[in-house]
Amino acid sequence: MYQRLLGHERIRKFLLRCDHELAEEIRREGCPRCSGRLHQANYLRKPRGDDSAPGPVFRLSFCCGVEGCRKRATPRSLRFLGRKVYLGLTVVIAGVLGQGGSGVGAGQLQKLIGVSRRTLRRWRGWWTTLLVESRFWQAARGRFQTPISAADLPRDLLDRFPGNARDRVTALLRFLSPLTTNSLLESPAF
Ligand SMILES: [Zn+2]
Repeated sequence: MYQRLLGHERIRKFLLRCDHELAEEIRREGCPRCSGRLHQANYLRKPRGDDSAPGPVFRLSFCCGVEGCRKRATPRSLRFLGRKVYLGLTVVIAGVLGQGGSGVGAGQLQKLIGVSRRTLRRWRGWWTTLLVESRFWQAARGRFQTPISAADLPRDLLDRFPGNARDRVTALLRFLSPLTTNSLLESPAF
């Protein structure tokens, strides 16, 4: 059921709207260093494996307008997992379809996502090792009464959220979004 979300215009728009809401919270707070007024200073991104995206894609971000400060403030994102080139949605769906039992074989998954087998393996390692060893995970996993199975990520995590495929993927991206502003995702796993 997750496969259908790939290239789905509605979820794309929905996640963008979520990102705008998160950005608005940051903008209202002002500069984290001097409380100065923040100006829009988005990054242009070209997500790979996402040829269906019309036009340029921006990672929403701000820059302090105060001369001599100019600190950058980048909000959490439900669309981008770190600075890497793939959309979070792609990494989640590739993760769950690659777990087996999804009816999608390895070769088919490669074609569907448009990445090499090696990249898929790295992502697998990101879910089962890098993520679960992160400080974020150590703190966040306590939110679930029954422990999440690291070997069964991301499916076990998706299963904890209610609703349809779109609701679950969105909830998972929101759950992981604190990671999108720190350095775990700068790792070579992506
Ligand atoms: Zn400032």
